[in-house]
Amino acid sequence: MAYLGTPGSTIQILKKYNFVFQKKYGQNFLVDTHILEKIIAASDISKEDCVLEIGPGIGTMTQYLAECAREVTAVEIDRALIPILEDTLSAYDNVTIINKDILKVDIGRLAEERNGGRPLKVVANLPYYITTPIIMGLFESGVPLDCVTIMVQKEVAERMQVGPGTKDYGALSLAVQYYAKPEIIMQVSPACFMPKPNVGSAVIRLARHAAAPVDVEDERYMFSIIRASFNQRRKTLVNGLANAAELQISKEEAAEALEQMGLAPTVRGESLTLSQFARLSNILTHKKQKNKKI
Ligand code: SAM
Repeated sequence: MAYLGTPGSTIQILKKYNFVFQKKYGQNFLVDTHILEKIIAASDISKEDCVLEIGPGIGTMTQYLAECAREVTAVEIDRALIPILEDTLSAYDNVTIINKDILKVDIGRLAEERNGGRPLKVVANLPYYITTPIIMGLFESGVPLDCVTIMVQKEVAERMQVGPGTKDYGALSLAVQYYAKPEIIMQVSPACFMPKPNVGSAVIRLARHAAAPVDVEDERYMFSIIRASFNQRRKTLVNGLANAAELQISKEEAAEALEQMGLAPTVRGESLTLSQFARLSNILTHKKQKNKKI
């Protein structure tokens, strides 16, 4: 078994298996041991931990993870990579490879079977084309998670971390910050990958909150409000909410709710904090309940 993580060892494996990169799967393999070591250090893995890796590629980071974790489950969509992974990971008896689309994996069941329902740690150099569905799928499904350490497109990492009043602030920032504390660990240059992506990358760690940071009565409704507020960024919040049919809120109700919170009717969604969205959601939930009773 060869150790991976350098351009030379990666090229050797790719040639041995005549591997052809699939652009549609976002395949950019890490070829920098320095970056790999930093990701492993940031993910804070010990021999107690059960790790889920999303998209192991040829198994580069999987080798590092297998050395420090008790157990690693790696989910890879590309069938052509499975014989390669069997080769590059042959020295480890603590790695399980699943050939599946991560969006179709029952991760709750996986945590139950592999870790007795205790929280998993997720580590991944994500395929960028499905970053948001993967992250939201992990959090919204209620899977027991400890922390998620992932490589994503640089701009997406920034969007996850920013607060109100900045142009990058949006539904993704609020969703991530509702579930976890985000921390950008480092920026990563395209030169650290093979082939080089045409965007910059960053490693971000999302440490799951032990308890939700705000009191919200109907989580799903709050997220519908958040999505509606950012769908039409240039519109006022009142118009954004009234235009979202599924919310069933009139302009008057939206304006009343804002007034109750001491906010102007001309306010835009991008200036509200997570706790203000939670309060708005609670006020509108009560209004809906009252309307139903009448
Ligand atoms: N972890 C490897 C590394 O760092 O060198 C590869 C990272 S590469 C950016 C993303 C990997 O995710 C590829 O191996 C790709 O085939 C895989 N992938 C893409 N879509 C996937 C999906 N829906 N489910 C599971 N794996 C996927």
